[in-house]
Amino acid sequence: MFGVHDGGCLCGAVRYRVKGAPLRAQACHCRNCQRRTGSAGAVVVAFKAEQVELNGATLSEYEHRSDESGRWLRNQFCARCGTTLIVTLERNPSLLIVSGGSFDDPNWFELERHIWTRSAPHWMCFSPAIERFEKGGS
Ligand SMILES: [Zn+2]
Ligand SMILES: [Zn+2]
Repeated sequence: MFGVHDGGCLCGAVRYRVKGAPLRAQACHCRNCQRRTGSAGAVVVAFKAEQVELNGATLSEYEHRSDESGRWLRNQFCARCGTTLIVTLERNPSLLIVSGGSFDDPNWFELERHIWTRSAPHWMCFSPAIERFEKGGS
């Protein structure tokens, strides 16, 4: 029922296609997502690696070690325009976390929950209909 969905970076050098439903779609308000996006957080949509097909230019990588968990997080971004399209985590390296805002239709999936709300900006508003976790949740 979920079919195929396409997306890509701002400049169009990197495109991707995902097949099927995401494992999880979350809004993450952690400091890492705030820094890597320069924004209030990130929409992070997790897929199994085999659900995601990348096309076009090769993504550049930046590996960051979390000062909370000590584990690595790898940001994969377009070398030309800087859009982060994929994040992978040491905790579960077989998952690809796709940046929700980079889909051609960023409304095709439902947001399931907010995580790391303890570091969300104080002006952030949350819908009572969406589950919320102070930290990472399970
Ligand atoms: Zn680009
Ligand atoms: Zn985060």
